[in-house]
Amino acid sequence: MQFWEQELEVLDRNKLSQLQVKRLKDTIARASQSTFYKSLFSKKGITPDSINFVEDIRKIPFTTKQDLRDNFPYGFLAADKREVIRLHSSSGTTGNPTVIYHTRHDIASWANLMARSLFTAGIRDTDVFQNICGYGLFTGGLGFQYGIERLGCLSIPAGAGNSARQIKLMLDYETTVIHAIPSYLGRLYDVFVDMGLDPRKDTQLHTFVIGAEPHTEEQRRRIEEMFGVKAYNSFGLSEMNGPGVAFECTWQNGLHVWEDAFIVEIIDPDTLEPVPDGEYGELVMTTLDRHAMPLLRYRTRDITRFLTGDCPCGRTHRRLDRITGRTDDMFIIKGCNVFPMQVEGILMKVPQVSSEYRIVLETINDVDEMIVEVEIKNDLTDDQYRSLEQITKRLVHEIRDEVLAKPIVKLVEPGTIQRQEGKAIRVFDNRKKYETSCLF
Ligand code: ADP
Ligand code: ZN
Repeated sequence: MQFWEQELEVLDRNKLSQLQVKRLKDTIARASQSTFYKSLFSKKGITPDSINFVEDIRKIPFTTKQDLRDNFPYGFLAADKREVIRLHSSSGTTGNPTVIYHTRHDIASWANLMARSLFTAGIRDTDVFQNICGYGLFTGGLGFQYGIERLGCLSIPAGAGNSARQIKLMLDYETTVIHAIPSYLGRLYDVFVDMGLDPRKDTQLHTFVIGAEPHTEEQRRRIEEMFGVKAYNSFGLSEMNGPGVAFECTWQNGLHVWEDAFIVEIIDPDTLEPVPDGEYGELVMTTLDRHAMPLLRYRTRDITRFLTGDCPCGRTHRRLDRITGRTDDMFIIKGCNVFPMQVEGILMKVPQVSSEYRIVLETINDVDEMIVEVEIKNDLTDDQYRSLEQITKRLVHEIRDEVLAKPIVKLVEPGTIQRQEGKAIRVFDNRKKYETSCLF
């Protein structure tokens, strides 16, 4: 099956704006059914008539994760409970969970966006798609599942973990596409090697979909080389359904964000004003086609920027640069602001080290230090082994030049950095309490 929503994907930008205005008005009308937006809109005098142009969205106040938590569980529900058929929720380890509700319409609309996204990355109904992702309340499981089925691939709902079993599934059913988080793929590769297999020769894999956590261009290229595939960046967040928000096309030059379904703004997180195109800021998103739980001007905390220029694929929806991290991933060391991805970008250029790394912040003799630990690969030649001291020195310089604070770099043996389940945690802050007061 072709899944090319041509009338929407290559819509003239003026028509796209008109569609957004119409859908924004409808969204405001729907959102007014929820207790949260009803009270907010009446306080601010907002009605569907407040909107004549897309820019009028700025009249609406932002919605934050804290608003979602404070109005847990039903404060944002805008539909009759009989119409709601599913919820997805975050774990809520740091307070009330965040919960998102979906009607039948919402699930179908999300499945279409997912199918469109996969088609955009060159995936077709002839593919065998193995979804290596937890099913359940997490959106990466069912979100992908419905899209894969909508597109018409043969789906393998493999779930996460058990790499030997994953590889057996790939071999038995001749999997061509997998979806997984990038930090898992280095480990999967090691299991291939342990089993005496080379994924480039012994499988039919040609396309990976990677996302759900920040990763660098260097990390992507590494994954592509290890497996002999093309790896496409997939972005989403549960508040905006989950996956299927923005996706790379086969040009791999940024992620088309589906503007018929979302209005996208990028703001300066301090002034809350829009930043000029091409500059980094916080992504703010509005749903345009969600019935059960519309969200307006939701502050995602993700940092990215709009890429300028047209895409050769012909799609008119704007492109986002890869997400560099969340505003709260940033840490301050020796007075310098650091994002973990700045360090990853440097590490992943070094062929002798694996993708397993962590950054430990430690107070040593009353001074805060950034310790970068990275595992060496397990198949180094004698020559490569001898070069490790040089590499350590080089990494110290390169990281210092990038983040402006001098790190301590430790190249450690394979398998020494503790593995975590789920999304990678890169930063461990063990600094003395009084030193961390400026954090986050
Ligand atoms: P959680 O907050 O528990 O991680 P989600 O599963 O909704 O909840 O994850 C969404 C978040 O994951 C996004 O806000 C973003 O920070 C991150 N993310 C998702 N996809 C990508 C991607 N392709 N690149 C970088 N970060 C991503
Ligand atoms: Zn494109």
